[in-house]
Amino acid sequence: MAKQLEWIEKELDNLKEAGLYNRIRTLDSPQGAWLVVDGKRVLNFCSNNYLGLANHPRLLEAARKAMEKYGLGPAAVRTIAGTMELHLEFEERMAKFKKVDSSISLQSGFNANLATIPALVGKEDVIFSDELNHASIIDGSRLSGAQIVRYAHCDPADLKRQLDQHRQKFPRALVITDGVFSMDGDIAPLDQIYEIVQNYEAVLMVDDAHGEGVLGQGGRGIVDHFHLHGKVDIEVGTLSKAFGVVGGVVAGNPLVVEWLRQRGRPFLFSSAMTVPDTAACIAALDLLEESTELVDRLWENARYFKAEMKTLGFDTGLSATPITPVMLGEAPLAQQFSRELFDNGVFAMAIGFPTVPRGKARIRVMISAAHERADLDRGLEVFKQVGKNLGVI
Ligand SMILES: *Cc1c(COP(=O)(O)O)cnc(C)c1O
Repeated sequence: MAKQLEWIEKELDNLKEAGLYNRIRTLDSPQGAWLVVDGKRVLNFCSNNYLGLANHPRLLEAARKAMEKYGLGPAAVRTIAGTMELHLEFEERMAKFKKVDSSISLQSGFNANLATIPALVGKEDVIFSDELNHASIIDGSRLSGAQIVRYAHCDPADLKRQLDQHRQKFPRALVITDGVFSMDGDIAPLDQIYEIVQNYEAVLMVDDAHGEGVLGQGGRGIVDHFHLHGKVDIEVGTLSKAFGVVGGVVAGNPLVVEWLRQRGRPFLFSSAMTVPDTAACIAALDLLEESTELVDRLWENARYFKAEMKTLGFDTGLSATPITPVMLGEAPLAQQFSRELFDNGVFAMAIGFPTVPRGKARIRVMISAAHERADLDRGLEVFKQVGKNLGVI
């Protein structure tokens, strides 16, 4: 083996020993309530397919039609020859849906953060960041070179303390929080954060990846949930969760959007969103504007599942959204729980350190509008059986 790469083999062995090696399961079916995973038909409690749009006939049809007209790829960055009518239509429709002035599409939610943060702050400046913010916010923040000040998770009082202590030392400041935190399913107190931030001449940015299509009226997101239109400067979103495709979006103040067209590096140096993704997203907006049925069903399913899990005696933590953690404590127990669920036809991930703190390992159940009541009942039955077997309930 190449000597210069031997260290990788050692590191991989270390991961395996520590139980941190990713064994990646393979799907042989579309996304939906049921999947074929590693050759086995299982109930899906893992995907971010909140509204069942990842394989929705209306989105597929829109993607097919657009491909007939525009082909597949953009073959260029947006600023050279990659901007199609479709992109502009999507951006206009998305802004209207979210009741804000402007939006811009990126290739993913991850890229949306990498584009936005370094465009707004640099080496001289400061970022105030919730300690549990997503990896793409952390990476975007590091890339900016700004000083990063963490505040305690969802704690506006601590944010205020940090602003008092550090704000005036820097010319520009950016306050960033996840909207919905993906491991606990709790919602950032964005109304209180806004009230504080507006006194400090700081830009306010929320990453609503898990709130897009989930929170707010008909899935309009966290800014709509708290009625903060025009007050939150920047709402970053992903189209790769509830919207069922792959893409990212930044919505909010038109000045920021215009600046990203000039200075957002993933916008300038990485090709545009693909044709089928963009067209499918427009169809998703059509669906959400026509009816709140899918969003209503998602929440009804989430409420039902959580209530029944509590009745069974499980601890579902702090969740205020369809993300349902099932708190188990130690990582080996969570892993064994997940394996036994899978053996019994239920696919739900175990999550342990370092993704969540030590002693807070859990199974994370992702509820979807694609689930029928009978699917949820089947899942509850298997959770009950495995929970009893392992002495959890
Ligand atoms: C999933 C997620 C992202 C990444 O979105 P992609 O479109 O998959 O790149 C970014 N931020 C948060 C908070 C997320 O949960």
